[in-house]
Amino acid sequence: MNLTLSPTTTPQRAGLYIHIPFCRKKCHYCDFYSTAAATKGRIDEFIAALRQEMELQRSFWPDEYDTLYLGGGTPSLLSLDQLAEIIDTVRKTFPLTQDAEQTIEANPDDITLDYLRGVRSLGFNRLSLGLQSLRDENLIWLGRRHKATQGLWTIEAARQAGFNNLSLDLIFGLPERLPAARQGQNSLSLWLWELDEAICYEPEHLSCYQLSYEPHTLIMRQKQQGLIQPLTEAEEADYFLETSALLESRGYLHYEVSNFSRGGKWLSRHNQKYWQHIPYLGLGPSAHSFARGRRYWNHRSLSLYCQTLKQGSLPIAGEEILGPEELRLETLYLGFRTRQGIHLTEFCRRFGQNLLSDPPGLANRLIDEGKLEVRGEWLCPTRQGLAIADALALMW
Ligand code: SF4
Repeated sequence: MNLTLSPTTTPQRAGLYIHIPFCRKKCHYCDFYSTAAATKGRIDEFIAALRQEMELQRSFWPDEYDTLYLGGGTPSLLSLDQLAEIIDTVRKTFPLTQDAEQTIEANPDDITLDYLRGVRSLGFNRLSLGLQSLRDENLIWLGRRHKATQGLWTIEAARQAGFNNLSLDLIFGLPERLPAARQGQNSLSLWLWELDEAICYEPEHLSCYQLSYEPHTLIMRQKQQGLIQPLTEAEEADYFLETSALLESRGYLHYEVSNFSRGGKWLSRHNQKYWQHIPYLGLGPSAHSFARGRRYWNHRSLSLYCQTLKQGSLPIAGEEILGPEELRLETLYLGFRTRQGIHLTEFCRRFGQNLLSDPPGLANRLIDEGKLEVRGEWLCPTRQGLAIADALALMW
């Protein structure tokens, strides 16, 4: 795979993220902040608070933005009028570039073609669809509300509505508890079959996440009670490597641990800001922001978020200042999660460390083992390297 990025193509403008904190019900694996109390009154109260937050933040964030991302939660739970109210305020408050990437996450559950057309006409030019699986038994186990056929229908509806930049979210590595697995079928083959079916729709982008067991989720409780048998590390590595191999054989660029794009044109511009320490402003409950080495985050409670803003204060719950060592570690951690890797000269300039010679022999050993490679000025993880990206960062 030839990844032709260079420091000059690195996006530098800030990104804007808005967290919509509502879901109809909690999925069994999810630890994102959201509440199921999505009454009209509650949503209106949230939008009023969000507008107040934008007003308070505008003077601290004078930059131009080239990405807007509505995530959650479930942004597609909001009516078109409610979305329009948010978008109008965004445009009046924060300058977006002409060519801004404007993404909205949507769940297939309650979407109609008219709704998608409405979303498109509000200016969203990228749709991230939470399919998660193309098999009903998986969707039920994950606690999703839609059926596989609904997911596929939504892809077609998104195309009809005019979305030519479509990203599909899928989850792999489900534990050995499904009927198919019990019957002795190979779950890895079933996953690859799902992936193959998703590729038939030629999405511009795919996010394929390894199932993780987060605290306070239903699947974590099931794991602790011994009701499910999670994959072993070796099995997880198989899933990861096979996923990467299949997608790259079909022309997708494996550009970040969980992310694939159909060529360089369709990388997620917004998510690259998180991976490259480019400033981003996060609005809404639990949203994180980062600028000039400072990261801060909002209250993870809709009530507290609204209450604080009603009193005229920013709803910030905590912050951390990243010193040179924290920035160095994060640069390694984030860089090794991307196929682009780490720019050697730039890293040396910022942190005074030549990654090829310090510590002595480490880079050469990892290159010999096929986990890293040097491409021009970049130290890049190979597919095998991406599979152990987090561990790689700790070696320096
Ligand atoms: S996975 Fe998405 S839809 Fe499900 S609870 Fe989490 S945020 Fe809501």
